[in-house]
Amino acid sequence: MHVGDDDAHVAANRSELNKLLSIPKIIYMRQVHGNEVINVDFDTQGEPECDAIISTDKSVGLAVLSADCLPILVSSKVAIAAIHAGRKGLVNGIIPKTINQMIALGATEIEAIIGPAICGDCYEVDPIMYSEITRGLPSMVAKNGRSNLDLISGAISQLQSSNVKSKYVNVCTKQSNDFYSYRRLQNTGRQAGVISF
Ligand SMILES: [Zn+2]
Repeated sequence: MHVGDDDAHVAANRSELNKLLSIPKIIYMRQVHGNEVINVDFDTQGEPECDAIISTDKSVGLAVLSADCLPILVSSKVAIAAIHAGRKGLVNGIIPKTINQMIALGATEIEAIIGPAICGDCYEVDPIMYSEITRGLPSMVAKNGRSNLDLISGAISQLQSSNVKSKYVNVCTKQSNDFYSYRRLQNTGRQAGVISF
């Protein structure tokens, strides 16, 4: 709804998704590359401004929109979460913050899947930013000898530190024509990653 698409098309696609997944309500976020984590349920109105949502409500789906950033879907028996994590999110700790908030709700044996996202080979940043970020987060060094960041290995490492087993679907959005990529297309749509119980 914020990337220049026709609102009517977006609404039609979203209602199609509800039908396909048989989920009466899917909650989307107004994502801002921050570190706000919000608990939601069926009564949540509109789109909360945040980059991660958590729910213990069996009647909702949680959605994260992305086009290169990491869509991370997190599951456990008592709580689920959808995280939007790009470079800023990895630096500002949105992942551990979300996991801690799930644990506070009683979640154990937490697992995560990282959907299609830009790979380390495709994500070059300026050298100053590269050194600043990799100094604090060495797991984000992309091993190609350039100033590339590997957001995926950064996320996997943060999840591991929080005792969360994770898996990446191994699809780079920039290299695959099946997915939207901001770096490849600039003016582009967003794909939705959705999780429910
Ligand atoms: Zn790539």
